[in-house]
Amino acid sequence: MYNVSKGTASFSELISRIRELSALPPEDAGTRFPKSPRFAMHVARLFQEDRLFDILPRIEVQLRIVAKFSPPVRPALDPYTSTQIGIFSKTFDDYEIGHFLEYPECCIRSFSERVRYSIDEDHMRELRASGMKAFVATAGFIPCSLFCGEAQDRGLLSFIEPDQIVAIRALERAIASELPHFHPEYREHYFEVRSV
Ligand SMILES: [Zn+2]
Repeated sequence: MYNVSKGTASFSELISRIRELSALPPEDAGTRFPKSPRFAMHVARLFQEDRLFDILPRIEVQLRIVAKFSPPVRPALDPYTSTQIGIFSKTFDDYEIGHFLEYPECCIRSFSERVRYSIDEDHMRELRASGMKAFVATAGFIPCSLFCGEAQDRGLLSFIEPDQIVAIRALERAIASELPHFHPEYREHYFEVRSV
């Protein structure tokens, strides 16, 4: 039995949800994903209409790279894939998207209702108070707190040692070079890393 990192397990779980939607009749997708019904139906419909034919090979490539690096936290999903399936679209509310990405409820609420759209000074204060020197989070995911146990359990957030940052940057470069895309904000940006 391999010792799978939390980041790999979390990424693998997300990929299997997308894979599952690729084979699900749209009318069943809402029942299967009751917290993201409209989004799940939308993705299943795109798959059914064969408009996502290039997505599955890309995410399999990303999964293979992630498994090789075995990161403590999962990277953001390939931005091309996210764009195609509608994750960045304003059509779906933050809760639908957040639940599909397995973000904890507390973090979605903090993001959506407190309009906390980026790593901010409160996170940095928590880092300094933690006694740790650095942390990493999945890009696009904003934890309600660096001490959020749910986010840590789900492989979305972790305190790290500064010497782990090199491997995280190498993983970002490996994904970017194997999966080119044209999303302007996410070039080689799959993690949020901060250190003191
Ligand atoms: Zn939280």
